Amino acid sequence: MSINIAIDGPAGAGKSTIAKLVAKKKGYIYVDTGAMYRAMALYLYRQGIDVQAEDAAEQIARICNRPQISIRYENGEQIVLLDGENVNGLIRTEEVSRMASISSAVPLVRARLVQLQQQLAAETDVVMDGRDIGTVVLPGADVKVYLTASVEERARRRYQENLDKGLACNLEEIKADIAERDHRDMTRETSPLKQAEDAVMIDSSDMTIEQVAEAILKLTEEMSR
Ligand code: C5P
Repeated sequence: MSINIAIDGPAGAGKSTIAKLVAKKKGYIYVDTGAMYRAMALYLYRQGIDVQAEDAAEQIARICNRPQISIRYENGEQIVLLDGENVNGLIRTEEVSRMASISSAVPLVRARLVQLQQQLAAETDVVMDGRDIGTVVLPGADVKVYLTASVEERARRRYQENLDKGLACNLEEIKADIAERDHRDMTRETSPLKQAEDAVMIDSSDMTIEQVAEAILKLTEEMSR
């Protein structure tokens, strides 16, 4: 049986950085489920779906079965393929983020991607991060973590990330965007973001990356005892 570590939490809580680190230390595969929702969002964006349209959800449901989304690993890095095209470099834009946040609420979109995620976790030891991993995708995961941080701290981190990349940005706008995405993820009908009953909550607001990773590794050790 493969070992599964589930990390859920809101945008900007540090899930991917931490999950990558834990996966590396354990020799497991890191599965970034957000990237799969983003690849689907890129497809929808390219198809000209207007997220403001009243029937956007119906339009998305009609075509979301068409693209082939898969992942492969190169030098330990997850590559997301959309109909065979490596889209890693195209899925972090604002447009795709907004589309992903909206299209991920469509049940058919989730059904397709959850199946892919469950298949991966059944075959391999994984650290998987997302919004519904501990609650829906891997309810039997060996370790479940709900990683969060204050909106202010998450916005500040994203702001710093953008500055480091040389991107112009505004802290207040980032904060508003994060709050809006949190609200959408937490209030949607299908698989809303919430802490699984048996998940351990870690608030990373005043913790370093190393400290959070250590805390999760400790939970993993306790599990195997
Ligand atoms: O984690 P990331 O910000 O890359 O995820 C992009 C979007 O995909 C999120 O805003 C969220 O709405 C959605 N998502 C989800 N379930 C997951 C992972 C991501 O609904 N397991």
